[in-house]
Amino acid sequence: MIKKRIDEDINKDSIKALIGVDYPLYKKIDNALLLYEATRTERIVISQRLRNILRDYEGAVDNTWAVMRDTGVVAICTECAISDGGSCCGRGIEDRFDVSLILINLLISGDIPRERTDKEGCFFLGERGCLIRARHTICVNYICKRIETGLTAEELYCVQDAIFQETEKGFLLEETLKREIILPLSLQSP
Ligand code: SF4
Repeated sequence: MIKKRIDEDINKDSIKALIGVDYPLYKKIDNALLLYEATRTERIVISQRLRNILRDYEGAVDNTWAVMRDTGVVAICTECAISDGGSCCGRGIEDRFDVSLILINLLISGDIPRERTDKEGCFFLGERGCLIRARHTICVNYICKRIETGLTAEELYCVQDAIFQETEKGFLLEETLKREIILPLSLQSP
């Protein structure tokens, strides 16, 4: 179904991009898939600058995960999910995603979840945690009481520094992607 629509839209020479978060998630995913397919067939060309920023951002994401592993944040989150059912990846957070952030995930991973795994949780939450690489700022920034009290001041500083680097680079990436791809293709009306 999605594949058919992608082919039709691309053939129509009328690729459009949805702006903002006020669309149903499936529509935003659909639209991001269309744009991603267009980048793969080079209907939409990704500039070298955008590629560099994307690579830089991926490095920052890797670094955040490494710091979180080394400081014990990952272990604290796993323990919380197992013993207390977790609470920070609640249903509805996915609605804060716009097409550009979904497209960034596609450009990094080549795929995006199409179905919800956890009925109570965020659309992107899998059995073993978050299924996507480019998370929303609200996800990356969140430091709960359990983490805050479980880490030394130095560890907390390292985590916050990594988070800052990731969100800074993520912000630059989103802005560049919007300026170079999303805005020129945006719809005038929904
Ligand atoms: S971390 Fe992932 S699963 Fe959790 S709320 Fe954010 S996007 Fe959803």
